[in-house]
Amino acid sequence: MREHHHDFLSWTMNPASPASAEWQLHSGVRARWLDYGVVELEPLAAADDSLLLSSGVHGNETAPIEVLNAILADIAGGRLALRCRLLVIFGNLDAMRLGKRYLDYDMNRLFNGAHARQPEAREAARAARLEQAAADFFASARGRRWHYDLHTAIRGSVFEKFAIYPYLHERPHNRSQLAWLKSCQVETVLLHSQPANTFSYFTSRHCQADAFTLELGKARPFGQNDLSRFAGIDQALRRLLAEPEQELPSYRDGDLPLFQAKYDIVKHSEAFRLHLADDVENFTALPDGFLIAEDGEHRYVAVGGDERILFPNPTVKPGLRAGIVVAPARLP
Ligand SMILES: [Zn+2]
Repeated sequence: MREHHHDFLSWTMNPASPASAEWQLHSGVRARWLDYGVVELEPLAAADDSLLLSSGVHGNETAPIEVLNAILADIAGGRLALRCRLLVIFGNLDAMRLGKRYLDYDMNRLFNGAHARQPEAREAARAARLEQAAADFFASARGRRWHYDLHTAIRGSVFEKFAIYPYLHERPHNRSQLAWLKSCQVETVLLHSQPANTFSYFTSRHCQADAFTLELGKARPFGQNDLSRFAGIDQALRRLLAEPEQELPSYRDGDLPLFQAKYDIVKHSEAFRLHLADDVENFTALPDGFLIAEDGEHRYVAVGGDERILFPNPTVKPGLRAGIVVAPARLP
């Protein structure tokens, strides 16, 4: 790789010679090409903390890809200091090239070993390789372990930026991570209460990382993103890379509204009717007694007035989740 060539994204997608996969940048950072769209960077001075940043797990969610590519360029150009180990993953390269969310199967439903059940999907082998790359990276970690999987959403959201905290089993929630998310201008956090086949659940469960799926705004094509809307996450990531020891104000209960899933709305048959507008925003409040959906004898009615709808999608196949009803939560 020539030093003046700083577009990591196009380079890692089409490396000229993946055999010579390690090089040193002028900025004193060692770089290793691990796979298409997978690059590890390490400062020459010993670094304790390990950070995995992923984007493009959904190929049409372009703004986070552009944010990470610019961060890589600034590290390579010596404009941004790197004081932690960094693994950058651009997830679904084939879908990114076509501007699609996925080709055969939603990649963020294929982690945690689920790829083995969809062997015919083009995303399956890639998800398995990304799991391995993440596991190898965190196996060499000495200090803290972080994974932020960056996404944008299909629909608008009452809380434009929100985080999903994977189910932790017996581990406690990390309040300093909630403080960091607040510094990214994340507006709310959904606490998952069961395992999922997402990338962030995999690294949380199997790599003991503080891992989150971050939904950072609405998905748009390459070049049509207003990157100023992503300034909060961009600046917070740059601070973390340059000063992983930074002090943040401690998190107090109520600093962020928290939600947890109450139940899934399941589409049982083609008779399923969702009584919400096609463009209803995520986290739209559901008035007490509101008939959310019905499907034959199944009726989903909102209770209490503080429930909200998340990820509504009436077009899924029967038997699948057509939305999640969430309710306010507190840290246990
Ligand atoms: Zn996504």
